[in-house]
Amino acid sequence: MKMEESKCILCKIARGEAKSWKIYEDDFSLGILDINPCAEGHCLVVPKKHVVRFYEMEDEELSRLFHAVKIVANKIKSAINPDFVCIFIRGGRISHLHVAVFPSMKNDSLSGFPQSSFEKVTVNLDDVAERIRNA
Ligand SMILES: [Zn+2]
Repeated sequence: MKMEESKCILCKIARGEAKSWKIYEDDFSLGILDINPCAEGHCLVVPKKHVVRFYEMEDEELSRLFHAVKIVANKIKSAINPDFVCIFIRGGRISHLHVAVFPSMKNDSLSGFPQSSFEKVTVNLDDVAERIRNA
């Protein structure tokens, strides 16, 4: 096992070496409660293997991960009954891809995210569209 994987908290949870509140599991993915929730029902869906960036995954694996995200989102919808179930994907603070899946109500502090949480920036939309389109 790589050093990165032996120390990674989400790998430890996937191996059953660290406590978690599992709410879903299949061969590829794990759904757990976030231990620092921003709302009741805030969950994480993670691949069991150590992956950092979702856009570096094989399409087949990404499809399996998002199948689990959809199941967890529907579980949150049934259990908590929010207006929306939202997702946010990072992998920075904890260097193991995790999809945050959380309930959101109309007009709550999550509903305007990300614009509500960041200062506005001035962007030349023609220029940035051209750069991304041609990248
Ligand atoms: Zn890991």
